Amino acid sequence: MADFPTVRLRRLRRTPTLRRMVRETSVSVNDFIYPLFVEEGKNIRKEIDAMPGVYRFSPDTLAAEIKEIAALGIPGVILFGIPATKDETGSSALEPDGVVPQAIKTIKDAAPELVVVTDVCLCEYTSHGHCGVIENGCVVNDATLPLLGEMAAVHAAAGADVIAPSDMMDGRIGVVREKLDQSGFQDVPVMAYAAKYASAFYGPFREAAGSAPQFGDRRSYQMDPANAREALREVAADIAEGADMVMVKPAMAYLDIIRRVRETFDHPLAAYNVSGEYSMIKAAALKGWIDEKRVAMELLTAIKRAGADLILTYHARDAARWLNEKE
Ligand SMILES: [Zn+2]
Repeated sequence: MADFPTVRLRRLRRTPTLRRMVRETSVSVNDFIYPLFVEEGKNIRKEIDAMPGVYRFSPDTLAAEIKEIAALGIPGVILFGIPATKDETGSSALEPDGVVPQAIKTIKDAAPELVVVTDVCLCEYTSHGHCGVIENGCVVNDATLPLLGEMAAVHAAAGADVIAPSDMMDGRIGVVREKLDQSGFQDVPVMAYAAKYASAFYGPFREAAGSAPQFGDRRSYQMDPANAREALREVAADIAEGADMVMVKPAMAYLDIIRRVRETFDHPLAAYNVSGEYSMIKAAALKGWIDEKRVAMELLTAIKRAGADLILTYHARDAARWLNEKE
């Protein structure tokens, strides 16, 4: 093995073009899925306090936003619904003309080629803000499953291209797959939030989606941030139940999990660059403490380098613009 001075690693860093030629990882607009919050009502376009540049839209104001997203070349969006009414079992999640089905129709009219992923979980629709049905103060697993299956079928019937269950109940992927197949949607893929951690980085999202739990927390169903081997069991279980794609959430503090999943499974892997990660960058950039573009692109590159194929990110619109600029 040659050594210094024969070996000089700096030789290939000398010019921008040389660096571009030997670059191992590149982030592309094709990697992005842009999260959208859709709220029941009319004429709503409300910026989320803790997430500058991210808005809640009512279905009627969504079309302009969708056209911009499609024009930037972003291939997909993921929808989170905020219903007008909430109850104990999240029944507004199952309405065929609910806020998400309405939004899907708007999107399909505005940009038919855009892939519409829908988040399937009850927490935005339940009065208590938990991801499942409550009995005796506990989130019960098995009673929640048929509701998730039903919600998935409602979204598929409205035209969703991909169903993304995010609840972390055991067995949900199998139940969702079976319900989709029985309902004639055997060609609609499932992207499982497979390794989803009970993370404090979700804070700003809960403001955005109005889904903070009214009591307790989500640690009895979402994963313990300290566990890595368990993530592989979660991913394996979801794949065995029929997941077409899997996800790790959050991304920034879980790059090792992304890497482990990448090395163990061949399924397309998504990573969710969550609200808290976005808000930290935005807040520091607003203070003038960091360079927003460089920090955001460095993070997106790191997520890709760790092994993600797809990145769900609130930076998608800005990053698409940055990627289209000449260096
Ligand atoms: Zn949930």
